Amino acid sequence: MLDPFALRDLVGPRAEVRRRALTGEHGVALPPFVDHHVHLHLIDEQRLAPGGIAGVLDLGGDPVALARRASSGIPHVSYAGAFLTAPGGYPSGRSWAPTATVREVSDPSSHPGVSGGAATAVDEQATFGAAVVKVALNADAGPVFDPATLASIVGIARERGLPVVAHVQGEGMLRLALDAGVAALAHTPFTEHTDAALIARAAASQVWISTLDIHGDTDAARLATANLAAFVRAGGRVLYGTDLGNGDLPVGVNVRELAALDAAGVRGTALIDALADPWPADVAPSGISTFVPGLAPESLDQVPAWLGRATVVPTEELIHDD
Ligand SMILES: [Zn+2]
Repeated sequence: MLDPFALRDLVGPRAEVRRRALTGEHGVALPPFVDHHVHLHLIDEQRLAPGGIAGVLDLGGDPVALARRASSGIPHVSYAGAFLTAPGGYPSGRSWAPTATVREVSDPSSHPGVSGGAATAVDEQATFGAAVVKVALNADAGPVFDPATLASIVGIARERGLPVVAHVQGEGMLRLALDAGVAALAHTPFTEHTDAALIARAAASQVWISTLDIHGDTDAARLATANLAAFVRAGGRVLYGTDLGNGDLPVGVNVRELAALDAAGVRGTALIDALADPWPADVAPSGISTFVPGLAPESLDQVPAWLGRATVVPTEELIHDD
């Protein structure tokens, strides 16, 4: 038997004890889960929904291909379109980032139609239906935007109603992103040691997408975990995201990512909130629920592994189990 009160103590008020009409399975219904960092051109997306992911945010792909997708269906897809980067900057030239997925911005111009201009690049992504704008600030792998060009991109995107998501890597890149008003980080910072003042600024102005598991068991993983824990303690808002398509990651809910989040202090109800966060806007589909069949967890420690059984079902298929 599932005790709904004990369940909600562990995973929050949105958890409901339900039975799946189609299969008769007993279990727990939760809001739809979102992976806030994927690259659809690098994965088999058919496996996402059976694996518990109802919505995704694609953070770097071909805007034309992404715009051609059907807008209905599961997973629901929101996207950035192409990576915006400095001339010669990351990830231009990478095998996994074909030319169609990268735009080099060489001019802060806010006028439309300027070759290499900031407005030209932002407007192209907006025209193709982007929900966010992705910028690469990777000082470890090439040139990055100067502050004026980055601020121009952020300002133009804001006028179009699009938050900017940055890949920050290398010394000083978190500060560069904060100074320009970047709204989100695509990865928890994994190369920089932060201080309390930077963390406080980030917690007050940004959301961070976790992507801890891509680092495996490395110094980068430990640094990212420490940065995320500090961000959480400062009240920062964390979004579950895996960078799916980057290396060998499970397609669907990634229990290793959840365990890493748990270890950084994103536990229980907070873990559900990170998975179900609708940022940037409507990235989670309606009429869809997460269903976790079988026995409910009995302690916070059991929650990450339990969520590994999650799958996506139409909400109408879930009936009261009493
Ligand atoms: Zn990525």
